[in-house]
Amino acid sequence: MTPPPPVTSPLCPTCHIPIQTQFASPDLIEQIVYGGLDPASDPAWESSGAATVEEYARWCGHLCGMACLRMALGPGAPSLFALRDDALEYGAYTDHEDDTIQGLVYAPLAKYAEEAHALPATVHRHLTPPQILELLDAGRTVMASVHYEIRNPDREAPGRGGHLVLITSRTPDGNGVHFHNPSGTTPDTRAANLPLTTFERFFAGRGMSFGARR
Ligand SMILES: [Zn+2]
Repeated sequence: MTPPPPVTSPLCPTCHIPIQTQFASPDLIEQIVYGGLDPASDPAWESSGAATVEEYARWCGHLCGMACLRMALGPGAPSLFALRDDALEYGAYTDHEDDTIQGLVYAPLAKYAEEAHALPATVHRHLTPPQILELLDAGRTVMASVHYEIRNPDREAPGRGGHLVLITSRTPDGNGVHFHNPSGTTPDTRAANLPLTTFERFFAGRGMSFGARR
């Protein structure tokens, strides 16, 4: 069988970094996360690099961090599951015998990004919104821990953390954050702009930043 052609990811018009998702078909995310659609029915699953559709369906909900890393690596980055394979080896995820998946653990992921991809990575165990802007101004991108409901910023935040998005720049007005959300349900939430105070309601105060690839 010939492998599927590589999926070309659109470059974001705002920050010029690829817009990528943790689910193979962006148009199905809404149905998967809110409608109970089994991700195994995603016809594009092979483009994720998963070995089987079962593996894809079991893991895709856990791969927000791999999607962020893939975007930070830029065009030509390995597939989502190629990154997952390596991240597993580094211990950034643990696949337990009782069928649970643990991760993402920041420190091994940072080590992996540095060693395998020459991508400078720093873990920020305590990170404030103003510090995010400082990192952006220093030319870094920031993978931030937020609640997945950040795709509905007009609603109350049900919590903070648990999901990862990649903040790539300030908003065009300079006051907020522009970020790519691996589980955004619409084009406007996959590449989103939010005022810092709105972002903060969903933000767990930790993350990882990436510098320019060496
Ligand atoms: Zn962007």
